[in-house]
Amino acid sequence: MRRPVIAGNWKLFKTIAEAVSMVNELKPLVAKCQDVEIVVAPVFTALSRVADALAGSNVKLSAQDCYWEEEGAFTGEVAPKLLKDAGCGYVIVGHSERRQYFGETDQTVNKKAKAAIAAGLNAIVCVGESLAERESDKTFSVIETQIQGGLSGFSADAFDQIVIAYEPVWAIGTGKTASDAQAQEVHAFIRQLIARLFNQSIADAVRILYGGSVKPDNVKGLMAQPDIDGALVGGASLKADSFAAIAAFNAL
Ligand code: PEP
Repeated sequence: MRRPVIAGNWKLFKTIAEAVSMVNELKPLVAKCQDVEIVVAPVFTALSRVADALAGSNVKLSAQDCYWEEEGAFTGEVAPKLLKDAGCGYVIVGHSERRQYFGETDQTVNKKAKAAIAAGLNAIVCVGESLAERESDKTFSVIETQIQGGLSGFSADAFDQIVIAYEPVWAIGTGKTASDAQAQEVHAFIRQLIARLFNQSIADAVRILYGGSVKPDNVKGLMAQPDIDGALVGGASLKADSFAAIAAFNAL
């Protein structure tokens, strides 16, 4: 059984005070969701204070990005071990906004995911096709290239710390969700690809999240798909009640 993950990516939103207040509101709302792994990803500056606020709760902490070096003359970067130090258990790597606006490539995603795992973090590795790629029937080849490049050189053991997020770029922040069937088709493809590149037992165990305008009213249909093991949620994760409703998808 793959334990579902519901992760909230807060992007560039919320001050420290707003982030702390949000998790204080969230904690009691999700306290009973024990069969789901719940994760929030605030901005770097709020991580440590949110970690304190989450202590003793069932909500885990993620960063939104990391660098691949442990330390050195890399102005502005944050190393995985510092994220761990700030209380993170997770880090998102290769989000489409990082790929689109900050030059992230499959090679940098690979280095970041490796460094995150070496530091003891779980890496949420994001992949997804653009609208133009989908419309020109390139979805599967794009996903294959991203998975092959992003996860190249990983050992079987590393997969205990890898979560994959399939996020079609055309569905992120647009209000357009992939249909349950469209999402399932790509998730099944990713699982088969992992079986081909690594092995069947890794493929059976790895959790593959869907991301792209997930809301309380569409999460249940998505989560009912056999290869969808959770959600990476942007907009709807910014409010405690909507994020809690998504985390409680089983009860909806
Ligand atoms: C995301 O930020 O990863 C995301 C999926 O955003 P949204 O839910 O707003 O589409």
